[in-house]
Amino acid sequence: AGIINFCANNYLGLSSHPEVIRAAVEALEKFGAGLSSVRFICGTQSIHKDLEEKIARFHQREDAILYASCFDANAGIFEALLTPEDAVLSDELNHASIIDGIRLCKANKYRYKHMDMQDLEAKLKEAQKHRLRLVATDGAFSMDGDIAPLREICQLAQKYDALVFIDECHATGFLGPNGRGTDELLGVMDKVTIINSTLGKALGGAAGGYTTGPKPLIDLLRQRSRPYLFSNSLPPAVVGCASKALDLLMESNAIAQSMAAKTQRFRSKMTAAGFTISGKDHPICPVMLGDARLASVMAEDMLNRGIYVIGFSYPVVPKGKARIRVQISAVHSDEDIDRCVEAFTEVGRKHGALS
Ligand code: PLP
Repeated sequence: AGIINFCANNYLGLSSHPEVIRAAVEALEKFGAGLSSVRFICGTQSIHKDLEEKIARFHQREDAILYASCFDANAGIFEALLTPEDAVLSDELNHASIIDGIRLCKANKYRYKHMDMQDLEAKLKEAQKHRLRLVATDGAFSMDGDIAPLREICQLAQKYDALVFIDECHATGFLGPNGRGTDELLGVMDKVTIINSTLGKALGGAAGGYTTGPKPLIDLLRQRSRPYLFSNSLPPAVVGCASKALDLLMESNAIAQSMAAKTQRFRSKMTAAGFTISGKDHPICPVMLGDARLASVMAEDMLNRGIYVIGFSYPVVPKGKARIRVQISAVHSDEDIDRCVEAFTEVGRKHGALS
């Protein structure tokens, strides 16, 4: 009681939205608890097809395919798409699931320095000898709250004849004027070929992931992607809640805008208080502290003041870059945000993080 959660990926607060919960219950009652099957045997109901169609419409892409998680979507795509004649170029700070997905494929692997366009260009030049090139990046990076320079990445991809893949787990539903994601925010919706994202964060927070993109690619994944072929279909309640979350977001961008205003409030008040917040305009607001022990004792003391946050230190983030990662949600009130800033200020002074 009285504890406010500031460390969930529940960016839009939809996991507790009454309409989302009702949609899950209705789907459970109408379609059952589960399918006891993978999709291609007897695990496809109308709601699975409807959700795939809705995801594609939301992202303005041709088609979409559902997975049990975005981890699975990332595990399936590279192996299905790329051969030993191809190349994949991956940002060094990409999410673990992208790294694992790339490990599973036989393409030639290039790792470019985090968001470093000179390095990406050098690697693209080197990769010209291969049949096909795929640049893979997180749209928004979850440890730093920074956003990939997609305009520049897409320009380079055009110059060197490469495809662009983005993981939008920390962008779908809230980045860009209509919450479509990083590609909308940066005006490159028509230049990014493949999007993988999750239903387990902003879109209701239950579970599930997907790939959306050109129809021939989605057809290929249905034939070849191992986590899709060999893992159980998403349960109806999970499908129902994600589907309702998308309906709400396609009706109005008010929830996303309210979250953006609260993010702005938190970032500006914390900066004014003397803290360094990494990233820009993203609801992931890492409060940079440097020292691992400081991050951990401050997080503990924040909990004593009713604010639930977690300290991140090595090996999750580089040595000397420990931080407390705060995540803002549309369900936070302005008073919640102010209470969090006050607690940080008190705790920061107590432990010498603020003078
Ligand atoms: N990609 C990124 C960038 C993530 O942050 C996560 C979740 O932590 C995933 C993929 C995996 O998503 P899921 O929880 O749907 O498997």
